[in-house]
Amino acid sequence: MERETLEMDVVFVGAGPANLSGALHLAGLIKRHNEAVEKGQRQGKSLGEIEIGVIEKGASVGAHILSGSVMDPRALRELIPDFIEQGAPLESPVKEDYCPPVVPGRLPPC
Ligand SMILES: Cc1cc2nc3c(=O)[nH]c(=O)nc-3n(C[C@H](O)[C@H](O)[C@H](O)COP(=O)(O)OP(=O)(O)OC[C@H]3O[C@@H](n4cnc5c(N)ncnc54)[C@H](O)[C@@H]3O)c2cc1C
Repeated sequence: MERETLEMDVVFVGAGPANLSGALHLAGLIKRHNEAVEKGQRQGKSLGEIEIGVIEKGASVGAHILSGSVMDPRALRELIPDFIEQGAPLESPVKEDYCPPVVPGRLPPC
């Protein structure tokens, strides 16, 4: 049997928010390092092209995230400051957060 192989320098297993953020952050660190070395602002060697892979067992990225209706955008803004301009699929900003009290015998309201 012939198996396809892909050479990678770094592999993140699972394409959830944590690993996607990690992969993006690592790519940014490498890019900034290489630029600083090229401009002579940092000593050391350029890392060149680092192959970063993210593998996911679900059929697509996000397939195994059960929900995602409400998101605190602070971390995403740090990683991708222009995520709104880039077309993040957001429906509306959260203006308030309210959860009614739990009533015994009823399902939790939220
Ligand atoms: C019902 C529910 C509702 C939620 N609603 C919200 C919400 O509204 N807002 C919010 O901010 N958070 C919500 N969360 C929480 C949010 O989903 C998690 O905090 C977040 O997904 C955690 O991210 P993660 O990257 O750590 O892990 P995950 O999102 O779990 O990502 C892990 C990924 O790794 C993959 N994986 C695992 N093992 C392997 C393997 N061996 N090989 C390849 N891939 C693998 C999985 O398929 C998965 O895609 C909710 C969670 C649940 C369960």
